[in-house]
Amino acid sequence: MDDFFSPVSGMDLPRFAGIPTFMRLPHVPPGHDRFADVDIGLVGVPWDSGTTNRPGPRHGPRQLRDASTMIRAMNGVTRVRPFAAARCADLGDVGPNPADIADSMARISAFYDSLVTAGIRPLTAGGDHLTSLPVLRALGKAVPLGMIHFDSHTDLWDSYFNGQKYTHGTPFRRAVEEGLLDPARIVQIGIRGTMYDTSDRDFASAVGIRIIEMEECAARGWDDVMAEARAIAGDGPTYVSYDIDFVDPAFAPGTGTPEVGGPNSREALAVVRALQGLDIVGADLVEVSPPFDASGGTAYLGVSILFELLCVMAASRASR
Ligand code: MN
Ligand code: MN
Repeated sequence: MDDFFSPVSGMDLPRFAGIPTFMRLPHVPPGHDRFADVDIGLVGVPWDSGTTNRPGPRHGPRQLRDASTMIRAMNGVTRVRPFAAARCADLGDVGPNPADIADSMARISAFYDSLVTAGIRPLTAGGDHLTSLPVLRALGKAVPLGMIHFDSHTDLWDSYFNGQKYTHGTPFRRAVEEGLLDPARIVQIGIRGTMYDTSDRDFASAVGIRIIEMEECAARGWDDVMAEARAIAGDGPTYVSYDIDFVDPAFAPGTGTPEVGGPNSREALAVVRALQGLDIVGADLVEVSPPFDASGGTAYLGVSILFELLCVMAASRASR
């Protein structure tokens, strides 16, 4: 592998030293002379204008970069070495317009359009969950994608607050309506918590989205659930969207809309490993909110999930 794309080792420079890029990878923003050589690009989207309750994910990418200096080169379970299997880089942040949701989404989609053109598969650190919609507007433009979605919420609501269509509770309803996702290849995993009504579930039923609620996950076990998830996504291009509130708030309190009764941190990582073999064209980890992450533990779990996502993306790319 090209040495340029090797992360800085903790054996060469202590982990607490240096400027913290994602996983200590080189910073290769658009326009850099190595940009076209990148296979998998880590991108920060510091934006939370879609948040309906407790804000803060705009601070996520910076906190996640800092925590990610703890990540080493090899997966301790699968022995995958993602930085050897693919050329990975930190592409920097997309600068949003914090005063204008539509302008922010246009800026984010334009950035991801450039990645599609360059053949770079993105791994995104959000941002709230509305971030996924402008990303999908770029990645799902040519052909509707399947999606594996880990969350305690479906994010399939129609609107909030007097008809507002663009919040972190609505991105996947919009993505289906816009033809960016193939509803027959969507599975939502870990859904739980109190509800306003059943209109999100009604929409899912109408278009054929499979929801595996947390109680069903607990009853069946993760191996069985993830086998079904892989079958639903199939062989086609698939997006993975991971809301940190999928994880029980005992393990991930640093998020805006926590729901109790969820997976522990070990299960949170194992479900990602179960995605091995899918054609993952992009992935995100969203809703890490540093102001509610007093211990920093949510950010550390977040970067550990990002590393697992990177491992399955790199391994599946290497096998194709
Ligand atoms: Mn969500
Ligand atoms: Mn959620």
